[in-house]
Amino acid sequence: MGADDDDTQVLDATSDSTSEDTGELGLGASSDPSHALLSLRGVKSGYGSLPVLHGIDLDIEPGKTAVLLGLNGAGKTTTAMNIAGALKTWDGTITFDGQNATNWSARQAVNNGITLIPEGRRVFADLSVERNLLVGAWSNKGSGKFEEARERVFDYFPRLRERSSQLAGTLSGGEQQMLAVGRGLMSGPKLLIIDEASMGLAPVIVKDVFDIVSDISQDGVTVLLIEQNVGALDVADVGLVMEQGRIVARLEGEQLEDPTELRKMFLG
Ligand code: ATP
Repeated sequence: MGADDDDTQVLDATSDSTSEDTGELGLGASSDPSHALLSLRGVKSGYGSLPVLHGIDLDIEPGKTAVLLGLNGAGKTTTAMNIAGALKTWDGTITFDGQNATNWSARQAVNNGITLIPEGRRVFADLSVERNLLVGAWSNKGSGKFEEARERVFDYFPRLRERSSQLAGTLSGGEQQMLAVGRGLMSGPKLLIIDEASMGLAPVIVKDVFDIVSDISQDGVTVLLIEQNVGALDVADVGLVMEQGRIVARLEGEQLEDPTELRKMFLG
């Protein structure tokens, strides 16, 4: 899937001025992008001839947790898929860990340390918890590495250790989300992107999931949380708001201590 020449013409005809057009940085960019692990500049993308991203600028520094908030259809998943090599980038650049990551394949992205946990906590229902983790380790199978990574996952999610031989399809929704995150960790990512971790979970479970995300981040993994749940801001170092294929606000540091404005903006 991606843009051919005709698609690009449609994109150019329909997009407004972007950061790329004006030479100015867009609202998602950091004031000091030089140390960013992940940077997007002027990223445009979409499906077939339908433009969805209209020039995304975004920076995430190593070890930080960024939360990308937006309503249904804002383009959050499309952004995540561009970063993780699951969808073609039509224009602009993606830089990851000092390398040009624009249009990496999904395999290249994983091998270079980017893991996307897609929306809908897809686990292999007919496989045990342990086997699901083994599948997640496909790019990280050196001797002893599986056991080491599995133990780390079990330390984050003791419930998964207790249920290691249980079929994943028989876990609760919250446990399946934990397994999806755990499986993503098995490849030893530098950047973990979690698409709508909180969807359909009870508030108390959502809090558990966000708390564990915070632990993962403290251990040095950079995290991009894609969310409609403003509660995710509690674990954010950076909050980004997306609307109609554009980032319209970036908040960090003290601005997040009282994110009322951001919450208001996001909730309308
Ligand atoms: P949600 O929270 O509902 O997942 P989102 O912010 O992640 O929303 P995207 O999934 O990125 O939004 O969708 C952005 C736009 O792209 C929407 O208008 C959607 O209909 C469209 N879109 C998404 N996937 C496809 C696809 N496979 N084919 C065509 N259009 C798509």
